[in-house]
Formats: sequence, structure tokens, C-alpha cells
Amino acid sequence: MVDGGYDELYLKLLDRAYAVITPKVERRRELPKLSILVQPKKTIIQNFREVAERLNRDPTHIARFFLKELALPGNIEGNALVLYAERSPRTLEAVYERYIKLYVECPVCHSIDTYLVKEGRIYVLVCTACGARTPRKGIS
Ligand SMILES: [Zn+2]
Repeated sequence: MVDGGYDELYLKLLDRAYAVITPKVERRRELPKLSILVQPKKTIIQNFREVAERLNRDPTHIARFFLKELALPGNIEGNALVLYAERSPRTLEAVYERYIKLYVECPVCHSIDTYLVKEGRIYVLVCTACGARTPRKGIS
């Protein structure tokens, strides 16, 4: 009976611990990671469309940014972005980080719950967390 009592108390404590920890984990929206495959004369971001979807961005917009920053030809093929040259995953991740800083992350509160609106030749990054509106240059 004493043992049973301990187990019950332990489970109750565990339940409480989970109740405290879980909501925090769920609230934080995490940046999706690029899944990169380097092949002879090719570098492939395999989960490209999925990343675009998670970021709530137009895949074409992200693709144009990568091609321009890397000065490489490339194409969206199925779910992947295929670049026609070998580049290290670190190089691609650096470009991805620049994209996030420019077109995803709110510079005021650093939330990534944002969306892009095209206004003429520029974009406006609108933050749904703090309401900030940040003008951004388009990708030529
Ligand atoms: Zn914000």
C-alpha cells in the first residue's frame, strides 16, 4: 500500500512536470532545416517546397534569392531546388539565414510569424506577433 502510494505520487508529479513543460515547447515555432544533398555538379535542397510551406513563403521567391545570391543557374524540380554546381551545405545555410533575416524574421521582435506583401517594387514584411511593418527590397 505504501509502495502504491509512492507510485501514484510520482505519476502525479510527472503529470504536473509535463503540464508545465509541454506548452512552452509547442508555442515556439522553429525554423525548418534544409536537407541538402551535394552531388557531382549539383547541389540539391531536397525538402525545398516543404521549407517554403513551413515558412509561408512563395517557393519561387526563395528560389530566386538563392540563385541570385549564389550566382548559379537552378530550377525547382518536384519538391527540390536543384542548383547546377557543387556548393557546401554551409554556403547554402548562410544564404538561407540571410533570406530568413531579410524576408521572414521580424527585426523588431524576432518572431517568424510574419508574411510578405508585395507593394509595387518592394516587399513589406508584416509581423503578426507585434504588428511591425518593415519594407524590404525586391529580388531583381
Ligand atoms: Zn514583430
